[in-house]
Amino acid sequence: MLYVIVLIPVLALMIYGVVKMTRKAKGKVETSKVIQMSSYQSKKKTSTNTNANTQACSFCKKKQKKLAFYSDEEGRVVGVCSDCRPQAERRALMRL
Ligand SMILES: [Zn+2]
Repeated sequence: MLYVIVLIPVLALMIYGVVKMTRKAKGKVETSKVIQMSSYQSKKKTSTNTNANTQACSFCKKKQKKLAFYSDEEGRVVGVCSDCRPQAERRALMRL
């Protein structure tokens, strides 16, 4: 019985230590992810700034200089290239 009484705190301590270590490691990974994300976002921001004139068509996803903007059934704004405009017209989307 004494053996068990000694073993339980030791086991608990070991488990606590492992959990703490894995949590620490996880936290490290998460912070590095956050840093990567923020750097990625800032990169994305600058790239969108430089390509301000080219936007992807909401239907075919091709980058187009000129997009016609429509409001879809859910009220979202969609940019449509000249090739996809008939599609938007067929869906009776509201031209903005
Ligand atoms: Zn298109």
